[in-house]
Amino acid sequence: MIFTEADQLRRWHWPLEKEEISLADLIYFQNGAYLPHTQAVVNVDSALAGRGMGVFEGIRGYWNDEEEELYLFRLQEHFERQLRSAKIARMRIPYTVSELVDIACEVVRRNGFREDVHMRPLAYKASEQITSKALVMTALEDGYAISVNPMGRYMDVKTGIRCAISSWRRVDDNMAPARAKITGIYINSALAKTEAVERGYDECIFLNAAGKVAEGSGENLFLVKDGKLITPSADQNILEGITRRTVIELVAQEWGREVEQRAVDRTELYVADEVFLTGSGAEITPVIEIDERSIGDGTIGSLTSKLQHLYSDVIHGKRKEYFSWLTPCYKVAKAAIV
Ligand code: PMP
Repeated sequence: MIFTEADQLRRWHWPLEKEEISLADLIYFQNGAYLPHTQAVVNVDSALAGRGMGVFEGIRGYWNDEEEELYLFRLQEHFERQLRSAKIARMRIPYTVSELVDIACEVVRRNGFREDVHMRPLAYKASEQITSKALVMTALEDGYAISVNPMGRYMDVKTGIRCAISSWRRVDDNMAPARAKITGIYINSALAKTEAVERGYDECIFLNAAGKVAEGSGENLFLVKDGKLITPSADQNILEGITRRTVIELVAQEWGREVEQRAVDRTELYVADEVFLTGSGAEITPVIEIDERSIGDGTIGSLTSKLQHLYSDVIHGKRKEYFSWLTPCYKVAKAAIV
């Protein structure tokens, strides 16, 4: 089940066509049990399916061949954010962060992955009846699942991507909170991403209701101008990304540089020297064009490139000083054998 990087680049999406892996072999977690993925189901009448009542995370796991280990990246932080999303959305997750970490590792072990993976913990409202309480979050039954599958890169981190400012605005905190990773809110991202792709771009960039730059459909945004690193601040209706935080921490730690967190104008992007997107899925994705304006000289900028290499070393466990960001999944099993 090991894929080469070339394989992964060819198969940016879930590789159903790959013979060695059958979707039917995957093991998921749902409500206390480890199940074949076909048995981990939610009814079409659930509040999750019908009303978008779920809070989720997207987590990357990286296989390290030399150490025969799979590292889940910033696992605790993802579960902490999921618990915060659940608090905002009045949902109950019946586990602590450390219990969730254990479950996540057990799901990886039961699948025996020896490759990069993408994991999606999902807390959801399982109730199926449509009653007068159908929209009262606290009156509905909770469920919890963790799904996972092999996944390589899905954005073009090698040559960079072309983006368009979306005609759709980012959801506003007092309408549907961008800070919480709520399933139903992703219709906002889906509309914008679909529009961008149908118009021939790779990705969209949202402005918020005030007309300032917010983020991509599933990524935060950074720009570099005259040597300064800038990113929209947390009050600009962004998801407070864990990769965003990682970049802010890494540039401070490695290069003693501070990232300016503030409102960003759309036209600042057009004249930026470099722009890149960050996300667990997108990692560090260079943006080389926005609305037909090339960014810098239209190739990957030097700071973006340096960050890509640093980030790659960190997530693959090659920088010991950031080891605390990695959760090894097989360590426990190996310790038991020794
Ligand atoms: N913004 C949105 C809307 C997202 O869905 C994501 C992906 N979770 C991000 C930003 C990046 O967040 P993270 O770095 O935590 O993956």
